[in-house]
Amino acid sequence: MRAAVYKGKHRFEIADIPTPLPGPSQLLVKVHSCGICGTDVHAVMYEIAPPGSVLGHEFSGTVVKTGPMVNRWKVGDKVVGGGGEPPAGGEPAARVHPRYNYRTMGFQGGRTRAYAEYVLMEEWEPLALPEGVPEEAASLTEPCAVAVHAVRNSGLKLGDTVGILGAGPIGMLCLQAARAAGAAKVFVSEPAPARSRAALSLGADAVFDPTKEDITGRMVDLTDGKGPDVIFDCAGIRTTLDQAMNTVRRAGQVVLVAVPWEPLPLLPADWMAREIRFHSSWGSSPGEWKISLELMRTGRISMKPLLSESSFIPLEGIEKAFEALMKPSTQLQMVVRP
Ligand SMILES: [Zn+2]
Repeated sequence: MRAAVYKGKHRFEIADIPTPLPGPSQLLVKVHSCGICGTDVHAVMYEIAPPGSVLGHEFSGTVVKTGPMVNRWKVGDKVVGGGGEPPAGGEPAARVHPRYNYRTMGFQGGRTRAYAEYVLMEEWEPLALPEGVPEEAASLTEPCAVAVHAVRNSGLKLGDTVGILGAGPIGMLCLQAARAAGAAKVFVSEPAPARSRAALSLGADAVFDPTKEDITGRMVDLTDGKGPDVIFDCAGIRTTLDQAMNTVRRAGQVVLVAVPWEPLPLLPADWMAREIRFHSSWGSSPGEWKISLELMRTGRISMKPLLSESSFIPLEGIEKAFEALMKPSTQLQMVVRP
């Protein structure tokens, strides 16, 4: 099968590698779409991805082969590439390890993933594609579940005001999840015009350009001098976490959703006296994949504004797409169609 193999030093090679054969309780899935995740971009950017690996964990596809012990799926079933409940003892380290460190322990395994024509899955891993959810949208269930997790784990209450810093795919999904959870007003900070248009079309009450506007001033003004109740940092760049702390209301909550890979400058003397609650959010649980699919099926979360014609690329386009995504990006979601 054809696959985009990571070669190290930010290079990919489209190679013919053996199509995997499913073991007794495994499935072979033909990949329909696979989203390019910020996690993969970081893995390449900071050279954490081992050379020789095939990345890509946001996918949907069709079962084309099943192992002899598989009884939950049959050939032709359409699946979402994750969200199944792992068997007892098989929970990922990120969810159960008492001292889990993503930076040093996050990329162990080196399993061949879905920037390829086919991908192997354990029988318990996928979820069925719900009727009415297109496969392109379903491939983005994982990032959607990350946003659903961030909102469910926050202190957001019905009628609260929310700030979102960064309207990349995760920011736009957090915006929609916050809306679905009952946020009365959502204000967004985003410099890229295409992304801010998408955020407005998804129901943001206002989008500010942080390169031209004073984000703290604008959000504080629009909340009667208080600041938003909850701020989701979906950018995780040098300025945003400190900005979130400075902008949130007294005793409000800042949720860090993006993963900063470099030290961030903070000046706590500026905001400590307001007794802010800080919360980091990580990944998602299988239940949140199901919630995400249900929110998509019922139209409360839409992938449409995240996707444009230029979002879809063939395997050959991966290296270029990563090059673009490693720079401050104006892209909406990118999706590989192997
Ligand atoms: Zn992802």
